[in-house]
Amino acid sequence: SRRSAALFETARKVIPGGVNSTARATWAGWDPYPIFAQSGTGSRLTDVDGNEYIDYLLGLGPMLLGHRPPAVTRAVVAFIEQRGTVFALPTADETTLAEKIIAAVPSVQRVRLCNTGTEAVLYTVRLARAFTGRRKIIRFEGMYHGFSDSVYWSKHPDIAKAGSDHAPRPVPQGPGLPAGIDETLIILPWNDVTALRDALEREGDDIAAVLSEPIMCNTGCILPEPGYLEAMRALTRKHGVLLILDEVITGFRIALGGAQGHYGITPDLSIFAKGLGGGFPVAAMGGRADIMALVEQGRVSIAGTYNANGIAISAANAALDELARPGMYERLYAVSDRLREGLERMVQDLRVPAHVVGLGPVFQIWFADRPIRNYRDAARHADHAAFRLWWEGMLNRGVLFHPGAYENLFVSFAHTEADVDQTLAAARATLTEMLVS
Ligand code: PMP
Repeated sequence: SRRSAALFETARKVIPGGVNSTARATWAGWDPYPIFAQSGTGSRLTDVDGNEYIDYLLGLGPMLLGHRPPAVTRAVVAFIEQRGTVFALPTADETTLAEKIIAAVPSVQRVRLCNTGTEAVLYTVRLARAFTGRRKIIRFEGMYHGFSDSVYWSKHPDIAKAGSDHAPRPVPQGPGLPAGIDETLIILPWNDVTALRDALEREGDDIAAVLSEPIMCNTGCILPEPGYLEAMRALTRKHGVLLILDEVITGFRIALGGAQGHYGITPDLSIFAKGLGGGFPVAAMGGRADIMALVEQGRVSIAGTYNANGIAISAANAALDELARPGMYERLYAVSDRLREGLERMVQDLRVPAHVVGLGPVFQIWFADRPIRNYRDAARHADHAAFRLWWEGMLNRGVLFHPGAYENLFVSFAHTEADVDQTLAAARATLTEMLVS
């Protein structure tokens, strides 16, 4: 990939760290340079050297309908050509989108739109603090809620500093983090009812919200243990603490109603982004009408120049219409399960010390000799060197996914059974090669 290498050297002269979009990949060890993208169509991505990949990175998730989904492209182009882009005045399309989100996700009675998951998280945190009159937020080790200092952006903190079992980990201090962050944030191990119960019993009166992904997608797609989300819901309710589910990855992907629909959990507030916009930057937060009413009363302000702009709204309206078509998720699950179960069987057949975890179109392969139930397990037992060989072997065979072991493989509505079979053939060759070396 010579052209990528040259472009990277040029980029580094003007963009610290190389390129904005691949900073994460660089951290994950994508050396000596990242691949420069040329174009995407459906499940395929092409780089500047003309290599084609079956793409399971999917732009970190937004390309749920595949690259350049025709219905979304048509809607956005038509909106721009016929109407404009940014008005800072309401449009009827904005209301239509809100109605569609509310129809899809029953816990969402009112909704506000913005541009990124990070913003949507901050709005929910602000609302929760205003509604409860409390300051503290509980979040979980190994999760990620956007690149914001106030909820602490690192998802992979030093495991040596985790502390004892069930105990909150000390909140990191230091450059870039707001002074006193340890007084507003509690970071707990996930899938651990004891840790949550203890924290709520100790400090419940100061805690505004528990902020959690319903599936831990930012540490390789760890599923909630049976009863865990139910316990989270019951304990938060008992202590008057709001439950915020961050469905930036799982929303509109696990099901039209998100992972909360799949698991039957009703949060107080929810966050959506990625899959909502058919590849365009749009996010939403919403939930209980009585909490969202704080916005109407002017007690909480939510604003942004680009919020509910025409491009975002037309893209999301078109994307949600596509997702609501009959049989869509059945097909997505059929293709995804073929891949996930195929990999699972292969790993067992070949006796690779690994297992595949996840649900439907989002999953990860753990190279580990034991089950991984939260970040502490992952940090102690995941074999990153093996993952790296796997990632490279797959890339060399035309299959692209995120280079981080703690990330996910995403399947889109555009992936086909033929894509899956080609991926499984590449996986067999890669795993076999890994066993020999
Ligand atoms: N929450 C979760 C669960 C995420 O995975 C991400 C992004 N990967 C975010 C929030 C932040 O979203 P954004 O990158 O759109 O700001």
